[in-house]
Amino acid sequence: MRIAILGGTFDPIHNGHLAAAQAVAEAFDIDEVQFIPTFLPPHKPARTVTSPFHRFAMVALATANFERFKLSTIEVDCLEARYSVHTLKLMHKRYADSWFVFIAGTDMYEQIESWKEYRELFDLTSFAVVNRPGFAMRGDVAPVEIVEGHAKTRPRAQPGVYYFPTVECDISSTKIREELRRGGDARRWIQPTVQAYINKHKLYA
Ligand code: ATP
Ligand code: MG
Repeated sequence: MRIAILGGTFDPIHNGHLAAAQAVAEAFDIDEVQFIPTFLPPHKPARTVTSPFHRFAMVALATANFERFKLSTIEVDCLEARYSVHTLKLMHKRYADSWFVFIAGTDMYEQIESWKEYRELFDLTSFAVVNRPGFAMRGDVAPVEIVEGHAKTRPRAQPGVYYFPTVECDISSTKIREELRRGGDARRWIQPTVQAYINKHKLYA
């Protein structure tokens, strides 16, 4: 199988996540995009993260109508924060003989050196780095040459790093939370079912 992984806090999931997943799924003819919500304890210092169960439910709602988009419990099942390197090793066991590509925005990829055992990550998976307006692509970290990703990219068997400059979705969960806190309208950035769920549970009021 060809599996794309999109890990995130998804607080809440928005159309930028879906656009990134779609672009990568098409480019590599992916069988499954696995959305992996992180488990984060609700008492993180910087801000209170919404319960993993609410975040998980919103990802389920947003991806329900996309055949290839699956939702993975691999991190929330642990009931504690996990590092990507551990998740990837577990995925290799669970899906033996699969080809993996890890989706990350340029904002995340910029900080890859701070990820646990980041050098090993480049052996465990390919990366699809998706443009996030305001964050330039870093070309100086990967041990391999960066290949431009587009609709007809042929994935190599060896792990590679692909950059997708064409995704241009200037939206973040932070902006959505701020907008909703102000009593504003976020419908242009999120799926209607997610909006309904947020209203029902008064998540960002
Ligand atoms: P927050 O503002 O709370 O950090 P976020 O919008 O960055 O939320 P995350 O759940 O942190 O969403 O992101 C998960 C992954 O999706 C990260 O790799 C991130 O870079 C990527 N991503 C999020 N939004 C976009 C976007 N608009 N375009 C491309 N990639 C995105
Ligand atoms: Mg983020």
